[in-house]
Amino acid sequence: MISPRERISEIKRTLPEGVRLVAVSKYHPASMIQDAYNGGQRIFGESHVQELMQKQEVLPKDIEWHFIGHLQTNKVKYIAPFISLIHAVDSEHLLKEIDKQAKKCGRVIPVLMQVHVAKEETKFGFLSDELLAFMQSNAWQQYENVSIEGLMCMATNTDDEAQIASEFEQAHRLFEAIVKLPNCQNVKFRVCSWGMSDDYPIAVEHGSNMIRIGSLIFGERIY
Ligand SMILES: *Cc1c(COP(=O)(O)O)cnc(C)c1O
Repeated sequence: MISPRERISEIKRTLPEGVRLVAVSKYHPASMIQDAYNGGQRIFGESHVQELMQKQEVLPKDIEWHFIGHLQTNKVKYIAPFISLIHAVDSEHLLKEIDKQAKKCGRVIPVLMQVHVAKEETKFGFLSDELLAFMQSNAWQQYENVSIEGLMCMATNTDDEAQIASEFEQAHRLFEAIVKLPNCQNVKFRVCSWGMSDDYPIAVEHGSNMIRIGSLIFGERIY
């Protein structure tokens, strides 16, 4: 079997300059994360709070942990002290709670706003127009302990590559529109987080500069 660290270097060889790789380690044991870490990987993504906390405790402290899944507001407090990036802010309510918990820790927490581009009803996130309006308003500026650094999205789970490409393109157009807003000139808005094991090559062609890869690195999830 090919080790996680070997998979990571294979993937990295194919990536254009400037695209960062989040190794999605959810449901995989700490030993596999350690292997990837030993090969130089530092960014890991998890989507369950409990699991993330257990791993964070036993693994090296210079790992950059990213929370990539749907985050419940009542769990923000557990990860606020150490999380490096929260990918999927899907409501102002969640943004407000992250701000509150970050303040308690004396931190500014970097976050991405999740935009809903997929056809599936189940995917979370703001609609493009909604998010553009939110960023245009100054509502977000009151949250001084969060730093809104970009967008995240998930494409429809389909074999139709044209469909996937058009969804990523929609997110990319929104990103370009937000970057140009007068009130976003002083913020570090620069991350486009899209692309997973099955669709990351398409994502990279359509503006992604941060891909989130799980099964391609760690294999099928074990539990
Ligand atoms: C699990 C997950 C991934 C990784 O998915 P793979 O198909 O295993 O690469 C990426 N993003 C999010 C939000 C996830 O929950």
